[in-house]
Amino acid sequence: MPHGNHFIIVTIDGGAAAGKSSTAGALSERHHLLHVDTGSFYRAVTLYLLKRGLTPEDEDKIREALQNPAITTRLRGRMARIAIDDEVPGEELRSPQVNEQVSRFASLKVVREFLLDFQRGHASFARENGFDGLVMEGRDIGSVIFPEAEFRFFLEADPDARNQRRVKQGEQDSIEERDRLDTQRKTAPLVCPEGAIRIDTTRMSLEEVIAKVSDIIEGEAR
Ligand code: C5P
Repeated sequence: MPHGNHFIIVTIDGGAAAGKSSTAGALSERHHLLHVDTGSFYRAVTLYLLKRGLTPEDEDKIREALQNPAITTRLRGRMARIAIDDEVPGEELRSPQVNEQVSRFASLKVVREFLLDFQRGHASFARENGFDGLVMEGRDIGSVIFPEAEFRFFLEADPDARNQRRVKQGEQDSIEERDRLDTQRKTAPLVCPEGAIRIDTTRMSLEEVIAKVSDIIEGEAR
């Protein structure tokens, strides 16, 4: 293990297209960590609810719809994928419709509570599957899910840089609108967690971001 003999938890929070997924993916490879992208969990629940014809205004029906489904984790490489009633959603998670609706569903307490224990359970899942730790990315990971994590990062970048990244990925996304909703919601809003290391990635290459975060994890940069 590059970080002594103990299991580590790394949290990466930040707005849309701030570089979280690429950084988390590289860290997971470099340090043998389970990679958990919690945005994909909120997307999967959004898709599940949309398929049942629900809108974010239907709070009571959403509560009812979330009584039944079983959520489990499937390991794909080093990545944790969510299965809802044994179905692992794929490409559809990044459709324009999900991009447009996910932050509205994610602002609902009932949706966040549905995913709370499931997200935390990935620490045991990572241990059981022989990983040296876990890297979890999202909006409230260092503030709500794992506030005691050993390494907590917050990535940010100028809106222009973030929009360009999404265009390069060929995706239609409303980054500013999602960030606005995520920052302003009452339950678990997007914030830089107190005490987290804040990194502005606007003028950094992905390799530079990964190197910086990795150095901190390995204790070489202080
Ligand atoms: O990370 P990604 O852009 O895929 O996340 C999609 C949406 O899921 C976010 O805009 C946010 O509304 C929601 N989300 C959240 N809390 C998290 C992760 C994602 O509310 N921890």
